[in-house]
Amino acid sequence: MTSEMPADLLAHARAAKGFMPEDEGAFLHRLARERLPHGPALEIGTYCGKSAIYLGAAARAVGGTVLTVDHHRGSEENQAGWEHHDASLVDDELGLMDTLPVFRRTLALAGLEEHVTAVVGRSTSVATWWRTPLSLVFIDGGHAEVHAQNDYSGFAHWIMPGGTLVIHDVFERPEDGGQAPFHVWQRAVDSGSFEPRDTVGSMRALARTGGSAGDPVG
Ligand code: SAH
Ligand code: MG
Repeated sequence: MTSEMPADLLAHARAAKGFMPEDEGAFLHRLARERLPHGPALEIGTYCGKSAIYLGAAARAVGGTVLTVDHHRGSEENQAGWEHHDASLVDDELGLMDTLPVFRRTLALAGLEEHVTAVVGRSTSVATWWRTPLSLVFIDGGHAEVHAQNDYSGFAHWIMPGGTLVIHDVFERPEDGGQAPFHVWQRAVDSGSFEPRDTVGSMRALARTGGSAGDPVG
């Protein structure tokens, strides 16, 4: 099938550090291929670039641009003492996480620097100045309730009608995982501005049903 991840970039995605199962990455790749001809796609939560490779591969295939936002200091669950901590990602002098150098290396090795642009900063700061209609928004940033909700509030309304909202780590049952992404999914559905589409694993896609980019979505 022509919408599949090209083998060379699949190898890079597999080798990259991160939190993106292969079937979900392939799904994200297909969604981005559909949408990128209509405008830029935005990812919130770059980390070391694993999902950015799936998105960037779509841009290489069909054209268009992927933007990816992260402050590169890690989420709560990435900090020392937490489940998803990786000590090799700490800047020892600052005593802070810094995933930006690893991300840049990952992107360069994959040959995707022309296709993916890093936006370095807090998602709320970036959202304040955002004015660009988006063909696709992928929410995979901070998974605490406040961060996940802020990411929806900051960017979902920039999705064009017919565009795609993708939310990662959606678990309906608390015993399967944190609830914030599920709450964001519920908020999108309840807003009446988004309609559920396909789901693969914990990745859920929705389509914006009406309005225009920049109009409130609720
Ligand atoms: N998509 C990645 C995983 C992202 S992990 C992959 O495929 O592997 C979540 C990321 O969100 C972390 O890198 C963290 O630094 C970032 N993050 C958390 N809260 C944020 C915020 N408020 N603004 C910007 N980035 C944030
Ligand atoms: Mg995730």
